[in-house]
This record gives sequence, structure tokens and C-alpha cells, in this order.
Amino acid sequence: MKALVLEEYNKLVYKDFPDPVLAEDEVLVKVEAVGICGSDVHGMDGSSGRRIPPLVMGHEAAGTITALGNQVSGWKKGDRVTFDSTIYKLDDWYTRKGLYNLSDNRVVLGVSPGEYRRHGAFAEFLNVPQHILYHIPDEVSFTQASMVEPVAVAAHAVELTPLSLNDSAVVVGCGMIGLFVIQVLRARGCGKIIAIDLELEKLQLAMELGADVGLNPNRDDIRKEVESHTGGRGADVAFEVVGISDTVKMAIASVRKGATVTLVGNLSPNAEIPLQAVVTRQIRLQGSCAICGEYPAVLEMIARKEVNVEAILSVEAPLSEGATWFQRLYDKEPGLIKVVLKP
Ligand SMILES: [Zn+2]
Repeated sequence: MKALVLEEYNKLVYKDFPDPVLAEDEVLVKVEAVGICGSDVHGMDGSSGRRIPPLVMGHEAAGTITALGNQVSGWKKGDRVTFDSTIYKLDDWYTRKGLYNLSDNRVVLGVSPGEYRRHGAFAEFLNVPQHILYHIPDEVSFTQASMVEPVAVAAHAVELTPLSLNDSAVVVGCGMIGLFVIQVLRARGCGKIIAIDLELEKLQLAMELGADVGLNPNRDDIRKEVESHTGGRGADVAFEVVGISDTVKMAIASVRKGATVTLVGNLSPNAEIPLQAVVTRQIRLQGSCAICGEYPAVLEMIARKEVNVEAILSVEAPLSEGATWFQRLYDKEPGLIKVVLKP
């Protein structure tokens, strides 16, 4: 088969690659669409340490089942599927607790951090265990389904956050995940949604996708503006979708006493927090990791048009041109958010 192979750091080559070998509990998926994730773009230069070459990256994908292992049941050739980015063990203590996203020794598709190497979806075919598969509803295209993973990351963060009807929410950072958090909050019955970002275009997109107010820290006094939109108290919840000290502080500063701040972004390994404010204002800091069962909900939300993934999609291109698009994303081309490749 053909695949886009990370041969060495910063060197992606579209070339012949050995076909996947199916385990008994796996299906073979013919990839129809695969999204380039920010973690792939950051990973290709070696800085994250999680894409050690040689590797076929790619964990946001959708396709058609073309073959089945001996022990697979309930699936058939021709089924349209997408799948979790994480392969978790079924007999793990956390999985049994319903926390498969935290299970030990889980493996991410298209990642090689040293302990393992699992080739991903920038290829014509890949093998996937049946327990991470999901059916794609008829109304949802392969391209839309390839973007379910980042929406599910946003949905997981919203699910972990205590939310009452009409609660106000602040979203710090309007990149792809932030824009999906806004859309899921809107669908979830949130009240006023306040988006914060340094880029005007992202704030505009945030407003088109459901935010009521857009604030720019270079221009606006964030605490004052948020108070003016929330009865002088601050927001009921905040989502931090960047992951550096400044934005963590901004999220904490924008909520009312007793609120929850859900932390999704993790650009830097450490961030400073205003400890006394967190304690004396009784603020709950909630981390959110990956996805834990949100795929079916997100697929249906896309089918019902409650979440618009196309708004974030910049380009669809052939997999053979993948190296060029990785480079353009790596160079941070203005306006380029999401690229989906088609083998
Ligand atoms: Zn990703």
C-alpha cells in the first residue's frame, strides 16, 4: 500500500509501505479521510518525543471495513467506521471503572514514544481492534467523521464540567478545540458564552459558531469585561484551551466564586496558579484528558448539525501531497486551521 511515512524528523515521504497485519480481534480499514492533528505537526520535528521515526502518523480518521480478523463479531465488510485514537486494554482496572482514557499501557494510533510504535492512518489501510470502532451515521461524510476525534476531546471537557441550564461560560483560546468547546456548550444549553483569543479572525469565527462575546486580552480588560456580562460575578465555568501560565491565570480570573475551571490545553508542562485566589474563592480546577465514550454523541450531533465541523476545515487534499500540507501547517500559514487528507 501507499503511506505517508515520517522517515526521519521533518522528512515525510509518500511511498510504498508494508500492508498492515491483522490480529484476530482487528478489522482492516480502508482509509477514506484522515485529519492532520496539531500533535502530528508538533511531533514531526522531534520536539514532543512521541513521533520517533520511522512512523506512519495519523489518529483522526474514517473509512470502510475491508477485512475482518477471526474473532471479530458484529462488524462486516463495507461498514463505514471511525475509531477512537486510543487503543485501551479491556481488562484494565481503569477501563472497568469506566475511565478507559486513563487506563494503563494504552496505545495511541500513529504514535511512537519509545515504549511502542503503532502505525496510524496516513496510509491506504490500517488495522484497528474492534472495540474502538464506531459506526458512521448515513448523514455524516467520511471527512466529517475524520474530525470527530477533536470534537470528542471538546465534548469530554464539557462532560466533566458541572453545568446548569443557562450557565455562563468563558473559553480561553479559540483554536480548533476551543471552537468545538463553544459549539458543544451551545448544544448543551449554556447561557452566555464569552470567547477569548488574541486573533481577531478566531474571535469572529467563535462568534459565528455560538459565542456571544469575543474578547482580546491585548485590547480588553478581561476580568472587567467578563463581570459586565455576568451580573458582576464572573462566569459560572471556564475552559482553558491553550496551556500556558498567562491563559490559566486568565481563566481563573474570569470565573465567579465556587466555579469550575476545566483545563484542556497543555502546551507547557508547568503553569503558575494564583493559589490564594483558587483557595479563598473555592475554585475547582478540573483536568480533562482525551475522550471517554463521547464518540457516538458527537457523531449524532454532527448528523443533527448541532456541531459544524466544516467551519474549521480549511482544505481537503490528496494524501500524496501530505508533506506539503504538513510543512504549511508547521510554518503556521495564516488562516490554515484543519487539513484533511484523502488516500
Ligand atoms: Zn489529535
